[in-house]
Amino acid sequence: MATKVLLDLDTGIDDALAICYVLGSPDLELIGVTATFGNVSQTQSVSNALSVLHLLGRDDIPVYPGACYPLGWETPTPFEPPPAVKAIHGPRGLGELALLPSPRPAEKLSAPKAINHLCRSLGHSLAIVATGPLTNLALALDQDPEALSYAGAISCMGGSFLAPGNVTPYAESNIINDPEAASQVLSGPWIATWNQHHECTQVPKVIGLDVTMKTILTRQQTSRWSQLNQTGRRLAILADFYIDAYQRNNPTMDGCALHDPLAVAVIDHPQLVDGPIAPVSVILNGPERARTLIEDSDSSVALTDKSLQVALEVDSQKAALTIIDAINHCLLQCN
Ligand code: CA
Repeated sequence: MATKVLLDLDTGIDDALAICYVLGSPDLELIGVTATFGNVSQTQSVSNALSVLHLLGRDDIPVYPGACYPLGWETPTPFEPPPAVKAIHGPRGLGELALLPSPRPAEKLSAPKAINHLCRSLGHSLAIVATGPLTNLALALDQDPEALSYAGAISCMGGSFLAPGNVTPYAESNIINDPEAASQVLSGPWIATWNQHHECTQVPKVIGLDVTMKTILTRQQTSRWSQLNQTGRRLAILADFYIDAYQRNNPTMDGCALHDPLAVAVIDHPQLVDGPIAPVSVILNGPERARTLIEDSDSSVALTDKSLQVALEVDSQKAALTIIDAINHCLLQCN
């Protein structure tokens, strides 16, 4: 039976590719999207998730509105991405792609409530993949500290452990957009409950820049999408905007990083990545704010305590092929 997947997205370009991955994988079933701020505002993130699902002919998949700003903000004003992020994902988060607005609204149920409800009702058949700031998951834990540990798998795109950050020399974008939420999720007490429920067999995964920056989508591939069909042409326009940004910022890279799709691919292909199982901490103060660290894992209690799997190695060719294959399948189901 296919694993049911809930995607928690700050719906920019690679988040949209993550949606395509889930829809194209024969082993996964997309059951919902929870939307947060990050690459775009929360309002835009909700709108983009609805529009991408409409483009892909999946108006049946619910989109739940989530956090509008980070946990630590004293004044509750909606988060807006800085110009540098708009240059990477486009002014509205989907490059130069002009999508029709979705004919339907988002759900009334909030993202944290939806996360907890789905964890408790679906249990081990549910996988959660978070590819934005971890605010929605932190709010879900605040409302129901145990629900998350009933899910079957969880994968978070974020952090950089041995590799440099992509916002500061230490910090990765999803973590720095809400370091307090990242700390609560990546080193919170819920992980011990999770590891007890799963007897340490399905440890939550952290998929950071160490592996995502090695998993590359090239322009040769997007040109193949553009020859497939009308949806493929649109997806190529979307991805080529991202590749252009990478060519400006990372000129030695022959394409763009597949950050968010890799965080999904490890759900149905866990062997694509490898790395230590150890507790993680997030630095909250000083110039290294939002840096993610692997804690010493030589303690015998580490596995039953707060251990996550930190991906440090990736079979990058196989990962890229797996992701492209699933996205191809998704496009072939479209016009
Ligand atoms: Ca994202």
